[in-house]
Amino acid sequence: MAVTTPKPTTADQSFSTYRAAVVHEFHKPLSVEQVPRKQLEQGQILVKVEASGLCHTDIHAANGDWPVKPSPPFIPGHEGVGKVVELGPGVTEVALGDRVAMPWLGYACGTCDHCISGWETLCLEQQNMGYSIDGGFGEYAVAYAHYVVKVPDGIDPFDAAPLTCAGVTTYKAVKVAGTRSSDLVAVFGVGGLGHLAIQYAAIAGGRVIAVDLLDEKLELARELGAEFTINATKEDPVAAIQALGGADQAIALAVSPKAFEQAYGTLRRGGKLVFVALPADNNVTIPIFETVLNGITIAGSIVGTRTDLREVFELHAAGKTKVIREVRPLVRVNEAIADLEAGRVVARIVFAP
Ligand SMILES: [Zn+2]
Ligand SMILES: [Zn+2]
Repeated sequence: MAVTTPKPTTADQSFSTYRAAVVHEFHKPLSVEQVPRKQLEQGQILVKVEASGLCHTDIHAANGDWPVKPSPPFIPGHEGVGKVVELGPGVTEVALGDRVAMPWLGYACGTCDHCISGWETLCLEQQNMGYSIDGGFGEYAVAYAHYVVKVPDGIDPFDAAPLTCAGVTTYKAVKVAGTRSSDLVAVFGVGGLGHLAIQYAAIAGGRVIAVDLLDEKLELARELGAEFTINATKEDPVAAIQALGGADQAIALAVSPKAFEQAYGTLRRGGKLVFVALPADNNVTIPIFETVLNGITIAGSIVGTRTDLREVFELHAAGKTKVIREVRPLVRVNEAIADLEAGRVVARIVFAP
């Protein structure tokens, strides 16, 4: 069989720079500026961004909070959604005009044990959008065609953006939790991730308990399918959930080690705690004795695969999920970050470039 390598398309050469939000130094405001358009390499595509969500990870990236740090200057954003406008050499997976999502897993090797066993998210060679490679906070973004996911027609790009990280991450966390019908599932943190976790746990058949510090978010949780809600500033979630019989699974989405410890305490015997959020403070205290005697499982869950994201989009296209988001212009990125850090955002901010 003859294999032909497609040639790069004749791209629109009418612009040589585009606007993007750039981190030049940790802990400093992002700079919205013109950045040079780059020549596409093998397997890359240029995407005209329509929508790009703001995740806590972007703030951790901009602050260099985690043990593995990005190298400034870089462009954050791993919830970019837009239309393919240029194909680099060798690209066959997508066509010009396709709407695609550019998730955290921007590139993986495709051949290691993790990649070939459906755990590409654990690939040691991976590159991450908005972290080790430039992300979606711009008018355009460069992505690897193998690792973008097509967005089905009929999904609003401003919905697709939060689904690209917050959606797939919580969808995968519910899969890792192993939620089955009638399980009690405690969801700690009802923000951008939590509001979707509640819906996926309910779709899996779980009875959801939402825990947060703000009544407004708990009200939203009830609207989205939570059967019980607990305001942890007014009531001890451990005692309240143990009074219900204990959680079969708890999903830790709040960026606070204390919430992780509380989530652990809510489990019934044989229960499972899934770590998802990544607080800047990296340590929790979990008792060994109770973990052993109670047969507790603790699992980490990092984003999701392309298959998981396709399933997330299918559910949304079928009308099974609702995305709570507000659209803001990218030029107001620093104000949006301040609002998110201060807890003034109900669920997700999505930037229009
Ligand atoms: Zn994220
Ligand atoms: Zn790999």
